[in-house]
Amino acid sequence: MTASSPANPAISIRDLVKRYAPAGGGEAKLALKGVSFDVPQGEIFGLLGPNGAGKSTLINIMAGLVRKTSGSVDIWGFDIDRDQRNAKRAIGIVPQEIVFDPFFTPYEVLENQAGLYGVVKHLRRSEELLRAVHLADKRDAYARSLSGGMKRRLLIAKALVHQPPVLVLDEPTAGVDVELRRQLWELVTEMNREGVTIVLTTHYLEEAEELCDRIAIINHGELIANKPTRELVGMAREKVLLLTLANPVVDLPSHPGFIRCQAVGEHGLEITYNKDKANAGELLSALQAQGFSVVDVTTKEADLEDVFVRLTASVAV
Ligand code: ADP
Ligand code: MG
Repeated sequence: MTASSPANPAISIRDLVKRYAPAGGGEAKLALKGVSFDVPQGEIFGLLGPNGAGKSTLINIMAGLVRKTSGSVDIWGFDIDRDQRNAKRAIGIVPQEIVFDPFFTPYEVLENQAGLYGVVKHLRRSEELLRAVHLADKRDAYARSLSGGMKRRLLIAKALVHQPPVLVLDEPTAGVDVELRRQLWELVTEMNREGVTIVLTTHYLEEAEELCDRIAIINHGELIANKPTRELVGMAREKVLLLTLANPVVDLPSHPGFIRCQAVGEHGLEITYNKDKANAGELLSALQAQGFSVVDVTTKEADLEDVFVRLTASVAV
């Protein structure tokens, strides 16, 4: 597939809106409220959000399974409306729900899919793909006899038959056990190493943190964060000191370790600091030295979970 130039994003989404028509006289559901972001080429991009956030809606629009209300989606430089055919060829989708014809073997599943995409016989890579997803020994088994994990792996192979430069996985590890989750993570990392841009949705922070180069967070149909994982995790390196002072706060203290410092009520201070750069003891001594008399202290630790909760509560960070 001829790529748009390497500098271009693998996927570009602008002002994407999806309104589901009301079912049976109910209210219309605004599942995406104007979402914009880019997925850089070569990355593992995580779309993180709680159930009902709009992740599958977004993926299904990319897959051409759900019709968007407005906005634009480019895949590998191809607009999904104007250049539907090329856009479709540029992407492989692993859906959230496992659906298979139970009477086909893994090999047949891949061959059928290749046929559907018009991949000519000598360019098919069914055997190679089965090896890649560690299913070579199940080549001729009935799909219905495969375990849940094997089925997921087969779905990944199926999404790759036309060698798309972009692979999208919708909740690949929802409801799978720890070991299988590991296997899937390895598989995704392998595919990425071979040059495939990966987008995956998940509601597991740990998964996004471990796998993804960049994480976007979606909640109630809105994108509320989009940062390199390192930066998001950096936000989780923050710690908070809550202090009660003997005297009313007039001037705020200062210290190079502070990220933020603000007065809370008349006697309170809330100090956010980077726990890699300072510790509470140092900060308290510095405060004493600056003439602040502390009568009470509590600390709060932020982890990615907190960052997520804060972000989804739409509190500015
Ligand atoms: P996620 O994948 O993040 O869990 P979804 O994209 O599946 O979220 O759903 C987003 C919102 O849109 C939810 O409120 C869901 O109930 C609603 N929704 C999803 N599909 C439909 C549909 N076909 N008709 C009406 N509402 C839908
Ligand atoms: Mg979903």
